[in-house]
Amino acid sequence: MTALSNDEAECVVGIEDFSRSTVAPVAPEWAKGRAPDPKLLVRAAELGLTRLEVPVADGGLGYSFALKARACEVLAAADFGFAMSVVNTHNAALKLAQFGSHELKASHLPALLWGQASACTALTERTTGSDFAAIEMRAVKVAGGWVLDGEKTWITNARNAALAIVYAQCGEVGDRSGIGAFLVDLTAPGCRRYAISSAFAQSSTGTGGFTLSGYELTDEHLLVEPGQAFTSIMLEINGARTYVAAMCCGMLDSALSLCTTYGAQRHSFGRPLAAHQAWRLPLAQAETDLAAARSLVQSATNCITSGEDAQLLSAQAKIYAVSTCQKHLPVLLHAMGAEGLRQEYPYARHLGAAQIAALVDGSTEMLLERVSRLARPVPTLIKN
Ligand SMILES: Cc1cc2nc3c(=O)[nH]c(=O)nc-3n(C[C@H](O)[C@H](O)[C@H](O)COP(=O)(O)OP(=O)(O)OC[C@H]3O[C@@H](n4cnc5c(N)ncnc54)[C@H](O)[C@@H]3O)c2cc1C
Repeated sequence: MTALSNDEAECVVGIEDFSRSTVAPVAPEWAKGRAPDPKLLVRAAELGLTRLEVPVADGGLGYSFALKARACEVLAAADFGFAMSVVNTHNAALKLAQFGSHELKASHLPALLWGQASACTALTERTTGSDFAAIEMRAVKVAGGWVLDGEKTWITNARNAALAIVYAQCGEVGDRSGIGAFLVDLTAPGCRRYAISSAFAQSSTGTGGFTLSGYELTDEHLLVEPGQAFTSIMLEINGARTYVAAMCCGMLDSALSLCTTYGAQRHSFGRPLAAHQAWRLPLAQAETDLAAARSLVQSATNCITSGEDAQLLSAQAKIYAVSTCQKHLPVLLHAMGAEGLRQEYPYARHLGAAQIAALVDGSTEMLLERVSRLARPVPTLIKN
């Protein structure tokens, strides 16, 4: 088990309080379309949420991945969309710290680290999501820089983000070694953005897209070179799969807690709901599957922390945690009777979020495919 340091444990206490006392009470409004108050991102940053893994030399906290996974779990218990939004800003800041020039960091990092601006990571396009290698956004080399053309869509934070890490094809479409990662200022001329609203994509996720037309960048904005960008994002995505799995555990945990409290107070046939064995057993099943999901998250976290290959465990953790949420959240909602449908309860929000979790950072089908290749490899299949 990856233990947290004393400082990290203290940080978790602050995040738990923030999640419970500040985020959870306002999150129901986000399901109605209201955008989160920007002051919440500032408060999240003060608690360290946008700096967790960023090196101390770059103004970050230099904390562990284990803390990030735990922080994501705690925040998602209140609202998955807000947790996704904050962690995406964190990840972009980390990428900038790891690959950016001194000048780029000086210009952009402080605003991200202190919650003055948000950021996103943009891979998905209208024509391709799961098949990342097929992206069509073009990056053409010109003297002293690059020109980007194309569109990204279904991007967390794209609605308001100041910056994006944009993946674009510098060579031929379909060539994964031609993909590079660029730092793009989404407020500059040449960028046109739009919001995506849907029943599921809560406003707290800030989902949107943008088009870049003849968008000029200097050479230093190429953060990760073609040849490295594809491999590097595929490695990072193991972390994303693990923290999304942790977020699912957070949502199910909060749903179980609320249901348990309700079952002790609400009476039927002269007894609390919780006194009826038939009412309690589905909760016990959810509790058991939650423990199994947490165990997989922990194993994947240990693997990432020790620098081992986490592809298999992170895929298994996400598949299991997502499907556990998809299976048990409707059951818990049912156990609440009509009351569970009230907007102040998070059941409907968490259900929508579980559907989103099943798509982001590798859909369930893509991950099952990965597991089938890695768990018991068939020699002719393992190449791709
Ligand atoms: C709220 C939200 C936030 C998001 N945030 C981001 C973000 O920040 N950055 C970003 O780049 N993207 C983001 N995405 C996009 C997300 O990564 C994609 O939705 C995901 O990669 C799936 O791609 P797609 O939606 O195009 O589905 P497709 O790839 O078109 O797949 C459609 C369906 O077919 C299945 N499928 C596809 N190929 C196969 C196959 N070979 N075998 C079997 N089944 C298959 C998929 O599992 C899926 O169920 C976000 C999406 C949502 C909903």
